[in-house]
Amino acid sequence: MLILFDIDATLLTTSRTGIAAMGEAGRERFGETFDEGRVEYAGRLDPLIIADLLRAHGREATDEAVLDFRQRYRAHLSRLVSKPGVARACPGVHDLLAALRRSATHTLGLLTGNFPETGSIKLRASGIDPDDFPVQAWGCDSPHSPPAREHLPPIAMRRYVERYGRGIKPSEVTIVGDTPHDIACARAHGCRSLGVATGQFSVDALAASGADRAVPDLTDTEEMVRWLMRQ
Ligand SMILES: [Mg+2]
Repeated sequence: MLILFDIDATLLTTSRTGIAAMGEAGRERFGETFDEGRVEYAGRLDPLIIADLLRAHGREATDEAVLDFRQRYRAHLSRLVSKPGVARACPGVHDLLAALRRSATHTLGLLTGNFPETGSIKLRASGIDPDDFPVQAWGCDSPHSPPAREHLPPIAMRRYVERYGRGIKPSEVTIVGDTPHDIACARAHGCRSLGVATGQFSVDALAASGADRAVPDLTDTEEMVRWLMRQ
């Protein structure tokens, strides 16, 4: 069993500091009129978000421009998220991860739109160790252009095989996330999905998008472990 967690609004919240750091990066590069509010964020891949931000401000989203923005974003995120109380784990997350770590029947992983360096900054700031997730698929890992979240489950499954030397079926993979994008990328590959309404989307909205189960948060540790362990 492989359980793949989304990061933002699933494992943790940065109180929209991630978005604010995008804005700081843009203003540093393009001036005070840069407006990070012009694009959608929830459930999307960071490379796509940056490309959209560049185009929304009349810039070409070349590889060099995206990389430059990514580096500025990292620096601002690191500075902003280190302030006390900005980043914190979502309700129930620490207890659930501790309970899952005690079991040897499954592997924990990440499947996220974040870059590895910025996702790790957010996790550490929330008291979560990125190394507790041996299988990781990040927002920049898609080999396709344009990249999509749907490309990431097969990458996570391949990394599982490379790491453990044994195969894993899609039905043995569960994706946990707070947006219909998380649910859609699970459904696209026959993986199970658990929708968590700790972001912008309600339990009903996540259920309507096809989640196998949708819950208000992850606080019912026993029930969550029971459901996640069930095949
Ligand atoms: Mg999310």
